[in-house]
Amino acid sequence: MKSAGPTAIQKLQPQQKNGDSMSYQHLDWQGKVIHLPKGKVVCIGQNYLDHIQEMQSKTAPEALFFIKPVTALCPLAAEFAIPTQHGAVHNETEIAVLIGKKLSKASEDEVMDAVWGYSLALDLTLRDVQAKLKQLGRPWEIAKGFDGACPLGAFVPAEVIQSPQQLQFSLYVNGEPRQQGDASLMIRGISRMLSEMSQWFSLEPGDVVLTGTPAGVGPLTPGDKLQLSLQSGSRVLLDVQTSVSSQL
Ligand code: ZN
Repeated sequence: MKSAGPTAIQKLQPQQKNGDSMSYQHLDWQGKVIHLPKGKVVCIGQNYLDHIQEMQSKTAPEALFFIKPVTALCPLAAEFAIPTQHGAVHNETEIAVLIGKKLSKASEDEVMDAVWGYSLALDLTLRDVQAKLKQLGRPWEIAKGFDGACPLGAFVPAEVIQSPQQLQFSLYVNGEPRQQGDASLMIRGISRMLSEMSQWFSLEPGDVVLTGTPAGVGPLTPGDKLQLSLQSGSRVLLDVQTSVSSQL
């Protein structure tokens, strides 16, 4: 029998703050450093039907994958900073998967053994910049990959989570519910997503995969107070209180 795990509530990490990607390191839910390097963040878009509908996006059977560079990483912790000079910065609350072993052209059967654990991330998006780039038919990297574009929480080890595809999560902004997510509603489940991503991009130890956002994306403003939680059934795995500041 495994022990039930130390504490269900993620402690704030005071040493990690201010959206500084240099200070980011992977931490577990007890606040211990995970000895994996920082790496790229591979993301999927359009993975929940309600978000596709709210964006009035055109869909295709092929998956939409994109990458945030390692410099996008920052701790979700007690505070993170957003740019204020490029129009709206939207929240996209997503389950994050930390890769523990290399996956290259892997089959669905192989991928789950390579998962170190799960957390929550914000796929911060410069929505006005993205809309303009889409209009021009250009790639929208800068809207998704800017410095600090990926605040990332502490990771719950995979062995604690029996059914990752049953995880639920939420985002409250200033006490108001904004996003409710349920991993069972993903269009591409986690194993299929990791396998397909690995056909294009080798996933290396320390890389992170973001699994898509449900509906409820909207603008964040410096001063906003956020609460994010990750649950497995009735068990709260992560409960993060954080706030938004502005990048200098
Ligand atoms: Zn996203």
